[in-house]
Formats: sequence, structure tokens, C-alpha cells
Amino acid sequence: MKKRVAVLGATGSIGKSTMDVLRDQKDRFQPVLMTARSDAKGLLKLKEEFPAALTALADNAAAERAQFDFSGREGLLNAIIEARADIAVNGISGAAGLEPSFAAINAGSNLALANKETIVMAGRIIFALAAEKNVRVIPVDSEHSALFKLIEAHGRDNVSEIILTASGGPFRDYSRETLFCVTPKEALAHPTWKMGPKITVDSATLANKGLEVIEAAGLFGFPPEKIKVAIHPQSVVHSMVRLKDGAVYAQMSKPDMRLPIHEALTWPETVCSPFGVLDFTSLSLTFEKPDLKKFPMLALAYQALSGGEFLSIVYNAANETAVEAFLKEKIKFLEIPRIVGYVLESMDSGKSTESIEAILAADREARKVAEDLIWSKR
Ligand code: NAD
Ligand code: MG
Repeated sequence: MKKRVAVLGATGSIGKSTMDVLRDQKDRFQPVLMTARSDAKGLLKLKEEFPAALTALADNAAAERAQFDFSGREGLLNAIIEARADIAVNGISGAAGLEPSFAAINAGSNLALANKETIVMAGRIIFALAAEKNVRVIPVDSEHSALFKLIEAHGRDNVSEIILTASGGPFRDYSRETLFCVTPKEALAHPTWKMGPKITVDSATLANKGLEVIEAAGLFGFPPEKIKVAIHPQSVVHSMVRLKDGAVYAQMSKPDMRLPIHEALTWPETVCSPFGVLDFTSLSLTFEKPDLKKFPMLALAYQALSGGEFLSIVYNAANETAVEAFLKEKIKFLEIPRIVGYVLESMDSGKSTESIEAILAADREARKVAEDLIWSKR
């Protein structure tokens, strides 16, 4: 029987890669739901190709919403429940992906999770709900997909530390002075991956790796000091584990998100895939230490992770707000870590993160503090 797949954020970078995987293996997978925020045209095109799948457009303002089965925020969540997919790929960007993750788990769907914000903001309650509903959360983020497989292969108890690789982004070799005046256009030119705008800016500040450190802690349960980051500009090694005997094992493939998506969709099997196949003959791989002074967003992520769950929510919310302002040219690149650092320092870390409502309230509060700061600077 075919696996019934919901594709959340079907018009984005992860969504398009997911649709490619589904097209490649039509005998194995069947899309049952495709969603987008406001790209009605993109979603209609997908509907033409897969007419049997439900569609949901999350943006209430989009004039075209009548053409879809569901619309608006509530409509999106209802669509996820109604679709009852075997597995939902969550490729929605940002904190907006959190409630759809909950909805998918509540619907009894396994969750192939690209939306790292779900784990950063609510890892503990997401895993508790998944256990209660007897569904699996399978990481799609390439580093975590690699770690998932490496840890599965070697046994969690044998792993002494995990090492996430980072491309270093487009500004890896820039001086701090040059970083002062970089533009959104320059930040959006990623050297190895083609991704949505928010995560691409995060790759340039290293906030993406910061979020991934927090994501790894949530997924695999290692303390901050056992989660390392290595700059690896070629993006061929996606992550490594060091075993207790000292040996390091790496997972390698071409940088192509269709591979981790395919792996998540076919897990626990290992199925032939045409994606990410690596040619060794021309490879030259390098590794460096990250420069935390030049890229403070990574250091701030460790600070947030050590400070508890509330601060991880604050880190993500303040960063999302700052990145949006940077993309609209309201603030400079180097102000992103300053704003996030300020918001982390100014919020009371002892607040509750026990429910989704408390988490969403923390997210709103941190955004407000960040917005006020951005506004006061103008
Ligand atoms: P993107 O901007 O290309 O696509 C986002 C998708 O989500 C679009 O389909 C959009 O319509 C939808 N969306 C956005 N806001 C929404 C909202 N408020 N409600 C409902 N739908 C909404 O982003 P992306 O690069 O595909 O990234 C998606 C997620 O996957 C992010 O969490 C990112 O960190 C993660 N991720 C992406 C990559 C990658 O290669 N792109 C790799 C690893 C992890
Ligand atoms: Mg990643």
C-alpha cells in the first residue's frame, strides 16, 4: 500500500524537494495534502498535478482562497487533521510551523520534520505527545538526519559527542568591518545550499547552526558541552559522531535535501534513491573552528540552551523578528545578534513552557521586545 503523505509548505524549498521525491516514487507515495501560506498560483499548479490531494492556503488575505479545500490558519490545522496522512513533511518556515506539527501528531501522522523551530520551541512536549499518540518524529534537517542514522547505527550509549557541520555561509572569510555593511542580497547568496530566505540569512549569521544545536539537544538528549560545531565549507559531511573509543564517524552525500527527505519518508527502511549520490574522485574536504566573535549568534544559542527552554523560544523569536527587519533593510546585519543578545538578557527566563499556549505567549512576548528595540533604533 502507498504511504499517504501530507506536504506542509509545499511551495517552499523543502516542499518542492519533497514533491520531487514523491514524483520520483509514485508507486510508493501518494500526496494527500499540500499546503502553502500565500502562493496560490504555486499551490494550484500542484493541485493540477495531484488532483486527489487536499489543498490548504493558510493566508486569510489571499483572494484566491476559494479555490482550495481549506483556507486560513484554522483551515490549515483542520486540513492536517482531516488528511490523516501516514506521514506529514513539515517544511513550513519559522515558528508558524509549530501548531501544524502538533496537529499532525494529533492526527496520528508520523512527522518528517524540517521545521526545526518545532523542536527549538517545544521539543519536550512534542516528544511527549508523539509518545502518547504512538507516532515518530523523524528529522529532515540534513545534520540531524545524518545524526539520526549515525546514532541508530552505533547505539546512543556508545556516542560520547555529536559534531554538527556548518558551511559557514557566504561571509565565512569576511572581516568584521566588511560584515558591517553587507546587504540582504549578499546574505541570500548561499555558497552550497538553495533554501528559503529566512534560513539563508540564518546560515550567514550562524543562527541556523545555533538553532540546530538546540534542535540536536532536543532530538538526541546530549548536554550543550557534548554538541560541537565544525565549519565545513563543502557541505559534504553532514554531521559526525565521536564514539566513546575516540573514533569519529561521518555521514556524507552531495548537498541535496531530497536525500534526507527521502530517508525520512522511507524510514525505518533503507530504500534506493537517486538523490545526493557522491563522486569521491574530486573531493577535498576541510574543517575549521567557528569564529564565535565574528558570528555571535552561535554563542548566543549555547547561552539560550544552557539557560533553559524559555530562552530557546526567546532566541528563536528575537532572531525571526530581527531577520525580518534585516530583509526589509530596517536594520544592519550586525544588529541581528545585538538585538537577540539584548532580548535574551532582558527577559525573565523562569517563565512557564508547560503548554503550547505558554510557548506561543513567550514567542509573542520576545517578538514584542525585539520589535520595540528595532523601532526605537529607527
Ligand atoms: P521557504 O520559505 O522556502 O518555504 C516555506 C513554506 O512554508 C512555503 O511553502 C510557505 O508558503 C509556507 N509558509 C510560510 N509561512 C507560513 C505560515 N505562516 N503558515 C503556513 N505556511 C507558511 O522555507 P524553507 O527553506 O523550505 O524552510 C522550511 C523549514 O525547513 C524551515 O524551518 C527551515 O529551517 C527548514 N529547513 C530548510 C532547509 C532547506 O534546504 N530549505 C534545510 C533544513 C531545514
Ligand atoms: Mg541544517
